[in-house]
Amino acid sequence: MTSQSALAISTKARIVIVGAGAAGLAAANRLSTAVSGARITLIDRRERHLYQPGLTLVATGIWKPGKVEDRNERYVPRNVDWIRASVTQFEPDANRIITDTGRTVDYDFLIVATGLHVDFEAVEGMSPDLIGREGIGCVYDNPEHATRTWEMIDHFTTQGGIGLFTRGPGGIKCAGAPLKVAMLTEDLAMRRGNRERVQMIYNSPGTGLFSQPDMDRFLKEDFPRRNIGINWNHRLIGIEPELRRATFATSEGNTRLDYDFIHIVPPMRAPDALRNSPLAWQEGSFADDGNWLEVDRHTMQHPRYPNVFGAGDCVGTPIGKTAASVKAQVPVAVENLISVITDRPLTAHYNGYTSCPLITSRGKAILVEFDYDLNMVPSFPFISPYREHWVPWVMKDWLLQAAYNAMLRGRV
Ligand SMILES: Cc1cc2nc3c(=O)[nH]c(=O)nc-3n(C[C@H](O)[C@H](O)[C@H](O)COP(=O)(O)OP(=O)(O)OC[C@H]3O[C@@H](n4cnc5c(N)ncnc54)[C@H](O)[C@@H]3O)c2cc1C
Repeated sequence: MTSQSALAISTKARIVIVGAGAAGLAAANRLSTAVSGARITLIDRRERHLYQPGLTLVATGIWKPGKVEDRNERYVPRNVDWIRASVTQFEPDANRIITDTGRTVDYDFLIVATGLHVDFEAVEGMSPDLIGREGIGCVYDNPEHATRTWEMIDHFTTQGGIGLFTRGPGGIKCAGAPLKVAMLTEDLAMRRGNRERVQMIYNSPGTGLFSQPDMDRFLKEDFPRRNIGINWNHRLIGIEPELRRATFATSEGNTRLDYDFIHIVPPMRAPDALRNSPLAWQEGSFADDGNWLEVDRHTMQHPRYPNVFGAGDCVGTPIGKTAASVKAQVPVAVENLISVITDRPLTAHYNGYTSCPLITSRGKAILVEFDYDLNMVPSFPFISPYREHWVPWVMKDWLLQAAYNAMLRGRV
């Protein structure tokens, strides 16, 4: 929870935000109105802004790719300097960062919002250039990949064959996306009258489908009902594109499976500059799985560098990596940062809120909202978080992009 009372302060602090994605832009806009006199700098080379939650709809032919494209300049506040560069080094002991243009930027306070790296290289034989060829699709992480994935799904649900659906182990962004792609593909094959010709197998790297237990139970019953097979403990480690063959590590050793279509979801990790810096978790599961940014999971403050905060996909917290968690994290990070500037105790608290409109078919979804304790925390009492419904579908298809843009502007 955050309160407005901690905001609107006067300071000469130099505040640097690294990353101008969902979290970085939301933080820049909130800070630009919450403090006066500060020098706020945003660093990111990327000019275009992608509404990533729309990529699932692009990859399944429901949205056109142009709908997820935007420009960062529309969201950067006037009183914020935007350096178009990438950070190559974080030096928190010296309170400075270094960019790929050789520029050194000193700061008093830092917000790290670099998002994450989709680690295609971790799957032997895989490269992003292969998406859209030899039956390979991947909804992550841009409209070009999503469009080429749609071409593959379009072909697969027309011609039939064996479809393998995968999911990288550990923290990935929008953990619902690999499931949504599988369910929408199944739905499309059914609508096209081709369901009998399509064999679908979802390969889970562990023994679950979703971290929230009620939803996990629902999916474990729903997939067999829809005749989607499940391979447990199947982690994709390699592909041979010309042979259309995938290798999975399993508890019984490696196994090879043939496919006509494969949806590849590689492991994900922190970007290099962050993972190689002292800001990353140094030990424990968040170091082993992704080298994520170390933060206190409730205050979003770095425990070893109290002038550093984090938000978004880059942070090492038990759940999250959704735009919905960005919306909840950024106000907490900004308010607590202001408390540090004004030498007051940190009172804003993030409870782990994350959400996913889990699309089960075209026109239906389940709005799953939960917290660190994996308890359901529904925002809309009239929509059951346990049942497919048309309302979350309408939200996903029509309303959430506007809410996302309002978040970028720091308005919600
Ligand atoms: C297919 C898909 C479906 C999704 N569906 C949903 C959904 O239904 N609901 C939901 O809530 N969320 C969903 N998400 C997740 C959501 O989009 C992300 O969690 C959110 O965009 C994360 O915001 P971010 O700012 O952390 O990262 P991003 O928005 O990815 O931004 C990170 C920025 O940091 C920059 N950067 C990286 N490294 C550096 C560096 N070294 N120096 C400077 N800048 C750097 C990048 O250029 C980028 O602009 C989905 C995502 C995908 C891919």
